[in-house]
Amino acid sequence: MALIVQKYGGTSVGSIDRIRKVAKRVMDKRNAGHQLVVVLSAMGKTTDELVKLAKEISPHPDERDLDMLVSTGEQVSIALLSMALQREGCRAVALTGWQAGILTDCCHGDARIRHFENNRICGHLQEGKVVIVAGFQGVDEHGEITTLGRGGSDTSAVALAASLGAERCEIYTDVTGVFTADPRLVPTAQKLSAISYQDMLDLAQLGAGVLHPRSVETARKRHVRLVVRSSFSDEEGTYVGADVPAQAESVARGIAHQEQISILWVKGREIHRRTPMLTGNLREAGVMANAVLHGTDLLSFPVATEQHKKAAAFLQEQQESLGFDEMEAEHGFAMVSLVGVSRHASSKVPKTIKRKMKALQVPIRWFHQSERKVSIALPAEQVKTAVRALHRELGLDAGEKLAVK
Ligand code: ADP
Ligand code: ASP
Ligand code: MG
Repeated sequence: MALIVQKYGGTSVGSIDRIRKVAKRVMDKRNAGHQLVVVLSAMGKTTDELVKLAKEISPHPDERDLDMLVSTGEQVSIALLSMALQREGCRAVALTGWQAGILTDCCHGDARIRHFENNRICGHLQEGKVVIVAGFQGVDEHGEITTLGRGGSDTSAVALAASLGAERCEIYTDVTGVFTADPRLVPTAQKLSAISYQDMLDLAQLGAGVLHPRSVETARKRHVRLVVRSSFSDEEGTYVGADVPAQAESVARGIAHQEQISILWVKGREIHRRTPMLTGNLREAGVMANAVLHGTDLLSFPVATEQHKKAAAFLQEQQESLGFDEMEAEHGFAMVSLVGVSRHASSKVPKTIKRKMKALQVPIRWFHQSERKVSIALPAEQVKTAVRALHRELGLDAGEKLAVK
């Protein structure tokens, strides 16, 4: 008998019929003798709809109120699953974040899990119940409801698996696993049978929405074995773990993309000396920034457009200590990133990318290469063309061989 944590995303619980199917899957595992903790997202697009309602009342709703509102989505789905299980004679209990003892920091809308008080969950498991937990939410030290950022139910599930010492964490979603690119954008993308924590983390941080980046960070830190698979089929999914060797013959593991990107340009005499401080401060403020230096006095970095105001305001506040004169934002970009670039290909990949983009008349506005990653920013409307072309050119299409010349 093993303890397994399963997480089902919004599409997987998007209707009553689908909730019944989830109940069936849960019961199959339960009947095989396993203990089950099931983490759910809100049904379908519920969270989007709740955010839209809030914005109809106020363009900048109070953060506490917003968390109060959006956390209700998960409360609906967990209650319905509990009813579906109990109707079939399977003992179950649904718990909200605070009932499950998920304690977070106070950062509304982007909280981090600090600690679990597991007694209640463990008690219910000992009584033989399936424990259903609301994903995406927790409670802070003042008793306030917090949420973990969009897509955060993955993190709830992985953190629970770590804290309960579960045998594995299964993430059920609407695709059959992790692919070499978003299969909705690239129909020729291939499913990976396994991927290392590091490559998965890079993909997730650079835009592959299949897993919330913090869930992968937690899995890596706490050694949680993850499986990503479909809730609509029995096809084997993708294993995410530490013991996954690099594929010697491939150029890269996959391509991620992010839409709605802005580029911030920061100008100041000898700014290159303060660049590590600048990016470090931004990271602490929750903004990931890969800065590229252009000579000694100019640097640029892309940020999600919805974060650019936060990033700019944060830098402005520290203008004196960071010692820059001007800052400008440019909008309307997308970022395309190649992840898990193999050592043998890393010197050739930039040339291949540049040649291909030139042939397609896609201007590269920003370029960054680090040990196993290459990212470019390009006009947003050309992202689909660029991702598909690079996927093919770099030999990632199903059945393709290497194409790095
Ligand atoms: P859930 O609601 O189950 O959490 P998400 O929408 O958050 O589902 O994540 C699943 C989606 O992630 C897929 O439908 C797919 O479009 C997208 N995706 C992006 N990149 C990848 C990738 N490399 N592999 C698989 N899916 C990806
Ligand atoms: N329901 C939340 C969202 O839509 C959390 C999640 O689905 O993981 O972002
Ligand atoms: Mg998700």
